[in-house]
Amino acid sequence: MRQIVVISGKGGTGKTVITGAFAALAKNKVMADCDVDAADLHLLLQPQVKERHEFKSGKTAVIDRKACQQCGKCITACRFEAISGDFVVDPVSCEGCAFCSYICPTQAIRMEENVSGEWFISETRFGPMVHAKLGIAEENSGKLVALVRKQAKELAQKNGCEWVIIDGAPGIGCPVIASLSGIDCALVVTEPTLSGLHDALRVIEVTRHFNVPAQLVINKYDLNPEMSARIEGYCSKNNIPLVGKIRFDKAVVESMVEAKTIMEYKDSQVREEIAEIWARLKV
Ligand code: SF4
Ligand code: SF4
Repeated sequence: MRQIVVISGKGGTGKTVITGAFAALAKNKVMADCDVDAADLHLLLQPQVKERHEFKSGKTAVIDRKACQQCGKCITACRFEAISGDFVVDPVSCEGCAFCSYICPTQAIRMEENVSGEWFISETRFGPMVHAKLGIAEENSGKLVALVRKQAKELAQKNGCEWVIIDGAPGIGCPVIASLSGIDCALVVTEPTLSGLHDALRVIEVTRHFNVPAQLVINKYDLNPEMSARIEGYCSKNNIPLVGKIRFDKAVVESMVEAKTIMEYKDSQVREEIAEIWARLKV
């Protein structure tokens, strides 16, 4: 079983379009959406949820009003000023350090686990998919990505699948690092702009740091042929495998509006280019 992640230096480069196309092209796979902060693979794959689970991360202090003697020790002790003068914990300010629960003389404070989101195992027209939803303003997306990856891998092993295909998080933060561990191939998607190149190089640096083989694809290369040529030159000089280029085509947006992957939409050169990239990927 091999794991491929599609990532990019920033959002909006077309990584989900490519992941969706791979979902249509790959046989015998599990899909995983690890862009948990802005998940949108479900818009293309229309998953039917079969299992729904809570994602718990971190803890928050809760005061039992009956047991509280209003001594005020916890208010003074909390350096995050999370406990109000009327002995109520503000869950947004509470960092879950549990100090207040240790110093409370009446054991009136308990630590409760936070439910920060949900994760799902679903069925799609292309096979199983593991995905998640992080609560608004919740952190710990790296932890949720790791959970989605683990579930997808276990499901693939259980079903004897050949592939796990992952829509990764954009950027170089914690979620992308969690997207990369144990990956056989990272496909980095960039657009032909200077900032696109810089962002892609930063991501490639991260993949190298974690010893994950990375290959690059230039999306909408024909919107700026000069910059595309510059990126190609940079890749060949710096030993970065360029696995393909995809032209701009409004068929991509049209297919998304119809909730279809580009591979299911009308015949186009983009379809052929992505199919060639899939065939050429070194995994
Ligand atoms: S330390 Fe305990 S008893 Fe004192 S105010 Fe806080 S919760 Fe109440
Ligand atoms: S758990 Fe820590 S941060 Fe939260 S209220 Fe208690 S002392 Fe403050």
